[in-house]
Amino acid sequence: MKCSMVYLVGAGPGDPGLITVKGLECIKKADVLIYDYLVNVDLLKVAKPNAEFIYVGKQGGAHTLEQEEINDLIVKKAMEDKIVTRLKGGDPYVFGRGGEEALVLRENHVPFEVVPGITAAIASPNYAGIPVTHRDFTSTFGLITGHEDPTKDTSSIDWAKISTGIGTLAFYMGIKNLPHITEQLMKHGRSKDTPVAVIRWGTTPQQKTVIGTLDTIVQKAKDIKPPAITIVGEVVKLRDQLNWFETKPLFGKTIVVTRSREQASEFADQLCEHGAQVIEFPTIEIAKPETIQPLDEAINNIQSYNWLVFTSINGVDAFFQRLLELGRDIRDLRGIKVCAIGPATEEGIKKYYIKVDCRPPKFVAESVVEELKRVTAIKNEKFLLPRADIARSFLPEELQKLGGKVTDLVAYKTIMGHPRNINLVDKIKDGDIHIITFTSSSTVRNFAEIIGEKNIAALNGHVQFASIGPITTQTAEEMGLRVTIKANEYTIPGLVSAILESTTSKKENPKDFKPCLS
Ligand code: SAH
Repeated sequence: MKCSMVYLVGAGPGDPGLITVKGLECIKKADVLIYDYLVNVDLLKVAKPNAEFIYVGKQGGAHTLEQEEINDLIVKKAMEDKIVTRLKGGDPYVFGRGGEEALVLRENHVPFEVVPGITAAIASPNYAGIPVTHRDFTSTFGLITGHEDPTKDTSSIDWAKISTGIGTLAFYMGIKNLPHITEQLMKHGRSKDTPVAVIRWGTTPQQKTVIGTLDTIVQKAKDIKPPAITIVGEVVKLRDQLNWFETKPLFGKTIVVTRSREQASEFADQLCEHGAQVIEFPTIEIAKPETIQPLDEAINNIQSYNWLVFTSINGVDAFFQRLLELGRDIRDLRGIKVCAIGPATEEGIKKYYIKVDCRPPKFVAESVVEELKRVTAIKNEKFLLPRADIARSFLPEELQKLGGKVTDLVAYKTIMGHPRNINLVDKIKDGDIHIITFTSSSTVRNFAEIIGEKNIAALNGHVQFASIGPITTQTAEEMGLRVTIKANEYTIPGLVSAILESTTSKKENPKDFKPCLS
């Protein structure tokens, strides 16, 4: 028998890494996920594939559902014997109406648990270089709603007491009321020179921080829109020394990743580590080949080959998955030597518990031929190359010229991707995108087709193009794109390093240790 359960979970302030372990578990086991505007939707990726997702965000005046309707919805779903995870931004009990939702659950005898989250008043200033308490500056910290209607006759905020009675003040939902808030604080005795920080979208790559004083912040933050938190107090001064997040080398850069959805995350994660905002724009998808017969025949005669040569991780997965589907396993490969074009392909092979016998120093087909020549007599050796439908003919042709017997077969197909329509060209022209990355020739060709070949040369000058290796660069340049960032090592970490080197380094203290690059 299933039984109903509701988890009211704090999803944290924006950076998906800032949810608690318990909160993440609640997402994984939910049948129904009911989530708010401030919840980072990346967190939903760990949910069960058949989970139901219900967005109930309230953004400014635009509410998808009123609070009473949200309460009813949570109760209704729980009554269907489901595990309901109600995800709220920050902490559920800090200006999140979590208390109201929990009371409704109690009234309806629905069992519930509440999982705390990291609230915006702690996390956003942290990511802006501001510790909310520090022994030299303050011993008190207050969380205040900035949402109160300033025309109300009586206020539930005792301005006289908080203005001078609390060191650090954090105002939630206070952007519209900033003139009222600063005026009240100064009127009740807080110095006009008190430092103030306004932080928008804290802990995310879009974070924006404006610094001023009680006297100047209204003017300085006039373009800041919600969601933003306002921090008032002497601790704001520490930002000059402790601003660790906004000084990351790629902070403020928006980078487009064009590789397939399955392969994007490793690359995107490395860019995010360095502070970049990543837009996934998958221009390719990996699909099964038109016919599997040639691969099946090769696998059924696998012992007739001397070498298995892999030139991509997709080829590795396609080959081994089929091997297993045919009821075989790696014992059928005994004695056969294995070559990988580069480290990512080698890692892919190792996952199937196979050691690579040959890997060239440069990760291109030309170098594969040279390395094979070095380690084996190619003449009369039998090579199996499970590759993409669009793979270059250079490798099989060269091996054949040297007397090798080559079976070059299509193990997988690269087809056109279906990226979300995000008006990329407009964004590029508006200067909102800084770098577009290409990790294979097919990403370049498909990008050009999606954007429109006639449009693409016009993008030069508006955005930088980054390429993983010489063949990809050549394809891009043939299509009229000026590639300004080129990886020295033809791998994803190599491309990340080239991007890091290309961005002008922020002011660095020569005594600072350099952070790891991968
Ligand atoms: N329960 C949430 C707060 C909800 S009220 C929490 O504990 O954080 C919504 C307000 O929270 C916003 O108007 C803004 O003032 C603040 N807020 C939430 N996330 C924020 C973020 N990432 N950056 C800045 N302010 C944020």
